[in-house]
Amino acid sequence: MSNENKSIHEFNFSLICEFFSALERRGPGSPEVTIKALSFIDNLTGESLIADIGCGTGGQTMVLARHAPGHITGIDLFPDFIKLFNFNAAKLNLQDRITGIVGSMDNLPFETEKLDLIWSEGAIYNIGFERGLREWRNYLKTGGYIAVSEASWFKDERPAEIEEFWQNAYPAIDTIPNKLAQLQKAGYVPVAAFVLPENCWTEHFYEQQVPAQKIFLQKYSGNRTAEEFIRSEQHEAELYYRYKEYYGYVFYIGKKV
Ligand code: SAH
Repeated sequence: MSNENKSIHEFNFSLICEFFSALERRGPGSPEVTIKALSFIDNLTGESLIADIGCGTGGQTMVLARHAPGHITGIDLFPDFIKLFNFNAAKLNLQDRITGIVGSMDNLPFETEKLDLIWSEGAIYNIGFERGLREWRNYLKTGGYIAVSEASWFKDERPAEIEEFWQNAYPAIDTIPNKLAQLQKAGYVPVAAFVLPENCWTEHFYEQQVPAQKIFLQKYSGNRTAEEFIRSEQHEAELYYRYKEYYGYVFYIGKKV
């Protein structure tokens, strides 16, 4: 990559981070869904070690901490998100139970077989579902759990427009039975899978973006990169409303055997 391209790329990146820093979530989800996924996990005590991978600013981590015992390490690639994450933890007086660190999901700083639970909402796609399941398993104790949410097809046949969008965005999107087979093949008992309700996309995600988009466009008025970015976010939301019977997010919960 030339220096010029690199700086444009970095500029885009910091814009995108700035936009998402203002939001509670960086992907579909809700406190209710986090709590529901947690209800399938039965091995936690005050001594448990939990990792929240791709934690962002920690909306779901704070919910986890309030409803599960143990210590949670949140890890994210972006220092600005981690700064906010630790700020949010302190604000809720959870700083003794939650630590945010900067790091990458393809090179985790944990010791092998030490974690009781790996959590990851709307983030495993960054490394790929199968690779993440396989590599992260090494850090789990036998009997430990993994709980991840992942984009999935609801039907075998899909209209070309949405098929094409996902083939560009994340070609590893697959049907729920195929994802469950991948979970089992990676060395877990598939304990549960459930579809996230639509309000995780609408009320908790796309609707929250609307005022943030307005403020962002005012601040970067005339900036083509910023405008294109917002346009692509809006396009993604329009596709969701049009094709939501064909895809969504699914929580997959597995137990290491
Ligand atoms: N779990 C949060 C964030 C989901 S968005 C939520 O549900 O709101 C995906 C997150 O993964 C972003 O915060 C992004 O910064 C992070 N991410 C992307 N690539 C990463 C990597 N290689 N290692 C760690 N985090 C990564």
